[in-house]
Amino acid sequence: MAHGTFNVPYPVNEPVLSYAPGTPERKALQNAYKTLYEQPPIEVPMYLGANRVITDDKRIMTPPHEHGKVLGHFSYGTSEHVKQAIEAALEAKSAWASLGWEHRAAVFLKAADLIAGPFRAKINASTMLSQGKNCFQAEIDAACEFADFLRFNAFYAQQIHQEQPESSDGIWNRLEYRPLEGFVFAITPFNFTAISGNLPAVAALMGNVVVWKPSDTQVYSAQVIMEIFQEAGLPDGVINMITCDGPVAGDVVFKHRDFAGLHFTGSTGVFRHLWKTIGENLELYRSYPRIVGETGGKDFVLAHPSANVSEVVTGLIRGAFEYQGQKCSAASRAYMPASIWPAIKAEMQSELATLNIGPPNDFGNFINAVIDRRSFDKIKGYIDFAKSAPDAEIVAGGGCDDSVGYFVEPTVIETTNAHFKSMVEEIFGPVLTVYVYDDSASNAFEKVLDLIDSTSEYALTGAVFSNDRYSLDLASKKLEYAAGNFYLNDKPTGAVVGQQPFGGARGSGTNDKAGSYLNLLRWVSPRTIKETLVSPRDYRYPFLG
Ligand code: NAD
Repeated sequence: MAHGTFNVPYPVNEPVLSYAPGTPERKALQNAYKTLYEQPPIEVPMYLGANRVITDDKRIMTPPHEHGKVLGHFSYGTSEHVKQAIEAALEAKSAWASLGWEHRAAVFLKAADLIAGPFRAKINASTMLSQGKNCFQAEIDAACEFADFLRFNAFYAQQIHQEQPESSDGIWNRLEYRPLEGFVFAITPFNFTAISGNLPAVAALMGNVVVWKPSDTQVYSAQVIMEIFQEAGLPDGVINMITCDGPVAGDVVFKHRDFAGLHFTGSTGVFRHLWKTIGENLELYRSYPRIVGETGGKDFVLAHPSANVSEVVTGLIRGAFEYQGQKCSAASRAYMPASIWPAIKAEMQSELATLNIGPPNDFGNFINAVIDRRSFDKIKGYIDFAKSAPDAEIVAGGGCDDSVGYFVEPTVIETTNAHFKSMVEEIFGPVLTVYVYDDSASNAFEKVLDLIDSTSEYALTGAVFSNDRYSLDLASKKLEYAAGNFYLNDKPTGAVVGQQPFGGARGSGTNDKAGSYLNLLRWVSPRTIKETLVSPRDYRYPFLG
């Protein structure tokens, strides 16, 4: 037990390094990338308690920008391995849960310092290589956001522990923030190394033990995360990494009595399926499981006629095409006023023509490849559909090339149909669809707000560009439930931990705001303790007299 109450070092966002020519960070990152690229293929094991498990069922890891290059293999596990992961977690539970929270925080604060320091180049290089991010996209994700998550979470954990109830005369009331009774299952997506690390880590910070299943296309950098957690002193069994087919894992986990919570980030369809499965198995569990899921988006950008053309163009290009549009927050539908659309379109077309496309080790490339064959085919399908549709036209990009890597040009579709397929469905690629509204019509702006609010099932991010204060106020009110992260005169991506807590509602998730204290609260089950200092010795109340 601690002999004191402690203050976590006050968290400050990790500075984003520039990687400009001549900087030491650029050289370190180029060297790290070269080392990983040139080393012999690696073998990634599963981390089940103290065991590093390799199986005969191997899966290949290749860079999205060079599918002929083998980075290594990881082992696919069976339901037996999932059971072993759960057993290892439950075995580690008692010691980890009874460790003072400040010790748990110290492990993750150390991990944050390792990420920001000696592991920075390695975790960035592995993210560039295996997930196809350019150096800036890797830096804001794998280094900065990941370190921020860990540091801010530790600070929020302290604040939560300090939150205590009132006490009255002769009574001391206390609140204990117990970890959940059982284990937490973390399932993570391919697109953010920081999310992959944070989902298991935040639950573990609050005293839980975790079974973690990364995405098949993120295993390469997931191993670096495990290496960092080990180096930071995370005891074996607290976070167990399994690599296997999702349904195989789900079939064991969701039937286990000690399943206590799901921490999911990924697509909406998968999340709904998991929630239903959990619902069907409710009688099997000791407690009602916590279900936290951050899922898909169909994020919008709206311009008012008063908006500045270059600001809109910059917001659209950065918002829609950074990391090839593979961000849940990426702009993918835009509503542009007819009066300024010709100017926006012309400027966007000429700016898009300056974007270089290619592998991330060439730092001049803004656009890299999309994650895998499945994704390439899906995105190409939407582009081909638009090419042949009578109510749509490709006004920029449209080219796809999978000969060496999965490259898709940043593509802009202009449609006259506000409910065109690509205005409604999540594509998760570098495709922006624009609907031009007639801003000379009466109540045009108000009507387009209703259209935005009702077009998609998602409500993750959205942005409004305007220099008219009344229109910003109207948009903020009418779009109150259309986005969990709402931007005024800025692109809808790039949320920073501690500054813009992230998450959406409706089809986009449970909105438990990763990177805020709200998320941490989902991983504890508080116990109230009332202690009476001098207990009464007579049952008779005064009114009985
Ligand atoms: P995905 O849904 O295909 O996969 C996510 C994870 O779920 C992977 O680990 C996958 O293996 C696993 N999975 C799939 N089916 C499963 C099953 N039946 N049982 C158990 N696990 C299963 O998503 P993805 O392609 O990796 O990521 C892209 C999606 O994630 C997009 O929809 C994007 O919007 C969303 N996303 C949302 C946020 C957010 O904060 N809202 C952040 C990042 C990504």
